[in-house]
Amino acid sequence: MEFQPELQEALMMTPDDLTALSNCLADALRLITQAATVQRLSRDFYWYSPVLKKLLDDKVAEAVVQPVSTEEVVRVLKTCYQRRIPVTARGAGTGNYGQAIPLEGGIVLDLALMDAIHEITPEGVAVTGPGTRLGVLETAARAVGWELRCYPSTIAKASVGGFLGGGSGGIGSVAHGGLRDFETVRAIEVVTMEAEPRIVLHEGQAVHDVLHAWGTNGIITRIWLALTPAVEWAQCVVAFATFDEAFTFSEKIAVDPAWTKRLITTFEWPIPAAFTPIAPFLRDSKAIIFFMIAAAQLDALTKAAQEAGGEVTLAAPWVGVRTQPLLSDYTWNHTTLWFMKYDPAFTYLQCGFSPTEARSQFAQLKARFGDDFLFHIEFMKAGTGVITPGSIPVVRFTTEERLNEMIDFCRAIGVFVANPHSNNVEGGGRYREDNVQLLTKYKYDPLGLLNPGKMATFQPGA
Ligand SMILES: Cc1cc2nc3c(=O)[nH]c(=O)nc-3n(C[C@H](O)[C@H](O)[C@H](O)COP(=O)(O)OP(=O)(O)OC[C@H]3O[C@@H](n4cnc5c(N)ncnc54)[C@H](O)[C@@H]3O)c2cc1C
Repeated sequence: MEFQPELQEALMMTPDDLTALSNCLADALRLITQAATVQRLSRDFYWYSPVLKKLLDDKVAEAVVQPVSTEEVVRVLKTCYQRRIPVTARGAGTGNYGQAIPLEGGIVLDLALMDAIHEITPEGVAVTGPGTRLGVLETAARAVGWELRCYPSTIAKASVGGFLGGGSGGIGSVAHGGLRDFETVRAIEVVTMEAEPRIVLHEGQAVHDVLHAWGTNGIITRIWLALTPAVEWAQCVVAFATFDEAFTFSEKIAVDPAWTKRLITTFEWPIPAAFTPIAPFLRDSKAIIFFMIAAAQLDALTKAAQEAGGEVTLAAPWVGVRTQPLLSDYTWNHTTLWFMKYDPAFTYLQCGFSPTEARSQFAQLKARFGDDFLFHIEFMKAGTGVITPGSIPVVRFTTEERLNEMIDFCRAIGVFVANPHSNNVEGGGRYREDNVQLLTKYKYDPLGLLNPGKMATFQPGA
């Protein structure tokens, strides 16, 4: 996005506010008012959605504050509370739904500098600051025999705090579920937005009060994240003549606990046509599966794929997040990015198919929408332990009405949809029905200054 000077014109913070904020920091240079930088740090990947692009293009903060410690976060929040300045937390700004875009100006609280890994315990729990990049944590964990249970395909850039604030799962979720499952998030320390901000530790079930709340009910300053023993991984690509055959084989591997896997992604053609850097491993008109599988099982997987009629086009070791080619760079929401580059008329949805009815659901969607709805399946373990075909289909965008028609049809045939074209926690599909995120907001942010507008059901003073 080009820098637009006119976006800065509606400044509401005063010079006195800026002085007060810089007094909160040991180094005043960590208060940024340079307009192009403020605009850059007010953005995420909201433009994936043509609906959100229109809504959010002109939203920008007035300044960026970069704290380096919990103490600085406390001082900044206290000052913002006194002066009624909105605060939008930012990790790396890789969210897709405009989650980190300030709707009402104020400051962006950029937590990237709070990136210390405090400890990796002998029991396999990482204790880290919110700004730590997931890729850095994965490398540090592997060095001592552990690895992340799940991570987004943005692992190289995304922060741990941003993953907890706005993410859900990713590579590894086929074995370990999403962030919400299996007590992966052990504890979260948050700073509240009150006259006297408190530092509160949420442990056990209480982590759900702040998980996936988009920074609306506290600033996460420390995280205790459970890891899993490191595995030696391999990557494998298999091509099948039809999506049906590819889905059948990928599902067989996904649901069989005998296979140690980290990623199983199945694409309908022509989605793979967009993956130009890895074209040698793709086959024209064929459906493709990407696997991360235990290296010790690579030969067995290759054999099983060939017996099922697949062509194995890549079988190679995975040697860390810098492996080339890195198949995960084409999975999860990276698939959308590649396909939107290939055909800008497309956008995406986030769906969950039924483990038992998926084939019938695929058929109904094809009959209704044809090639306007292209299947990209990510197998995930649900919190119940059942392996489900999650999905981030790429869909042709014509009008918002047509997009909503697709969402409504999915829901009518029993396909779960988390709507990525909504800019509030409730609309995004991962809002908790027990309301704990909202109830926490009333306790920790009574004036509604944290990422205002993103918790739609919150009413200040209620
Ligand atoms: C190409 C692409 C692929 C992606 N793939 C995946 C995927 O596989 N799985 C997945 O889950 N997501 C995915 N995403 C979304 C996103 O990358 C992840 O959710 C990522 O973990 C967000 O981290 P971040 O540091 O960029 O967070 P940001 O975008 O900076 O923030 C996300 C949200 O968390 C809040 N937040 C940030 N830090 C804090 C804090 N310290 N305290 C409180 N709130 C905070 C922000 O206000 C915002 O609402 C993808 C996005 C893109 C563009």
